[in-house]
Amino acid sequence: MKKVITFPEQKQELPGNEYKMNPEPEIIRENYTGSGKLLGKTAFITGGDSGIGRSAAVHFAREGANIAIVYLKENKDALKTKELIEKEGQQCLIISGDLTDEKFCKKAVKECISLFRTINVLVNNAAIQFPQNELEKITSAQLHKTFETNIYPFFYVTKAALPYLKEGDSIINTSSVTAYRGSEHLVDYSSTKGAIVSFTRSLSTMLAKRKIRVNGVAPGPIWTPLIVASFDKLKDFGKDNPIGRAGQPSEVAPAYVFLACEDSSYITGQFIHINGGELVGG
Ligand code: NAD
Ligand code: MG
Repeated sequence: MKKVITFPEQKQELPGNEYKMNPEPEIIRENYTGSGKLLGKTAFITGGDSGIGRSAAVHFAREGANIAIVYLKENKDALKTKELIEKEGQQCLIISGDLTDEKFCKKAVKECISLFRTINVLVNNAAIQFPQNELEKITSAQLHKTFETNIYPFFYVTKAALPYLKEGDSIINTSSVTAYRGSEHLVDYSSTKGAIVSFTRSLSTMLAKRKIRVNGVAPGPIWTPLIVASFDKLKDFGKDNPIGRAGQPSEVAPAYVFLACEDSSYITGQFIHINGGELVGG
């Protein structure tokens, strides 16, 4: 399996850990009431150990789903997610490994199938980012790492999972507001997020005849380990949008529930923009 490349510009070695964050992100609102929207379903979530993926995992569990999460190596975060899911009365399979390795992606899907026999909701969500203010500073190594991590696994995992998805099942891809308005310090990352938008639209039409829906979420600034691991200046993070603050994972994950369940049965190829009110097209 491939080694993780870290870059000198990184504040800390990726991936970041949620348990080290201060304050810790809000995973689910205390008053979020499940209503069996995903009863008996199985969800497979990449990057489900922390941040938005963890929050989606816990919401899905509250709605009655069993969960498999894939993560790089943040065991402590993954075990906490598992504990939170078990508290909801559901099962959680945690799978550690590198999604840039297609063999690992196939193995992870197989492990999920061996335990749960099915996948009904696939969430492609894992990503990395390495901010650079000059294009010349984006090294080939960084460029390859960013594309290999942020978009190739969407193909690997979806290809591996697709034979198990049936009518009514759903795929949800995490993009970013940076795909829609660009980002001068995340040129490579925002390009991968644009690729995710096109991947989602293309796949949605391809899978419509199989009655599998493919949608996505395009978050704005959300308080997660990715942010702490990437940026030096955190004080003003998220303050330049109309709502004027960063969002919490608990404010993003309900959109994943909506896109995963029957409530969104007439929606495919679309993105939900959860970004504090920044107006973006598409
Ligand atoms: P996060 O760090 O909590 O989650 C990302 C996860 O991806 C990590 O936990 C890590 O385990 C996993 N990962 C990374 N590389 C991997 C690899 N090679 N193999 C296996 N797993 C790997 O951060 P998050 O902010 O919750 O990110 C989730 C998604 O949300 C990402 O797609 C990110 O681009 C997107 N997003 C986040 C924000 C934000 O402000 N936090 C904004 C827009 C989009
Ligand atoms: Mg993590």
